[in-house]
Amino acid sequence: MSHPRKRLVMGNWKMHGSLQDNAALLGALLSGAVRGGDTELAVCVPFPYLSQTQALLSGSPVSWGAQDVSIHERGAYTGETSAAMLADFGCSWVLCGHSERRAMHAESSSLVAAKASSALACGLSPVVCVGETLPERDAGNAERVIGDQLDPVLALGAGALGRMVIAYEPVWAIGTGRTATPDQAQAVHAFIRAALSRRGAGQTRILYGGSVKAANAAALFAQPDIDGALVGGASLVADEFLKIAAA
Ligand code: PEP
Repeated sequence: MSHPRKRLVMGNWKMHGSLQDNAALLGALLSGAVRGGDTELAVCVPFPYLSQTQALLSGSPVSWGAQDVSIHERGAYTGETSAAMLADFGCSWVLCGHSERRAMHAESSSLVAAKASSALACGLSPVVCVGETLPERDAGNAERVIGDQLDPVLALGAGALGRMVIAYEPVWAIGTGRTATPDQAQAVHAFIRAALSRRGAGQTRILYGGSVKAANAAALFAQPDIDGALVGGASLVADEFLKIAAA
């Protein structure tokens, strides 16, 4: 049976890159990316490299985006970047509420939903990240935590949900080399799918993220509610990232 939703494999470069390294990485992605294939490829790059990324990827099958967005349209918000600015650089995507931002910048779930809303208003697709910490999982609270993170996003309604992507990223699996088992990931994806379905958005794509590599991607992608991956570390190595996309 073919997968009901188009698979999406998205790289999150985090704060990595240089003009020189990016040119090599994006060049390698371009040579390996398959036009019209059954997997969509995307990269979320640091703000200063959006212009370079746009120049190199325009017209290619690889789309691009940013890693954060302001809730404000314009004004005295030093250091912030608006959704309209991201749209100016051809972004299709923006990560909202990555666990590193929730943890290091105290982003609340209502702020994350407001960021998703700003992105949508400028025609960008938000990739809303949710996920529990290890103590939360061990205490049996994973679903409650994820449910709370999702609630303000679900409240945006079916139209908004249909234009976004959800990424389930267990905090304990990000950058740790420790991946959720396919069954653990599928259980949470099914929980998120049910919540989306109750809002009339059962076809919204749900990506898994957390130490995804070529070696574990196929088993994750075989799960019925896993529609692709958000990839950190492995997205910086073109060959590995392309192998994940091919898995
Ligand atoms: C991420 O940053 O979203 C991520 C999943 O990182 P890694 O793949 O390195 O665990």
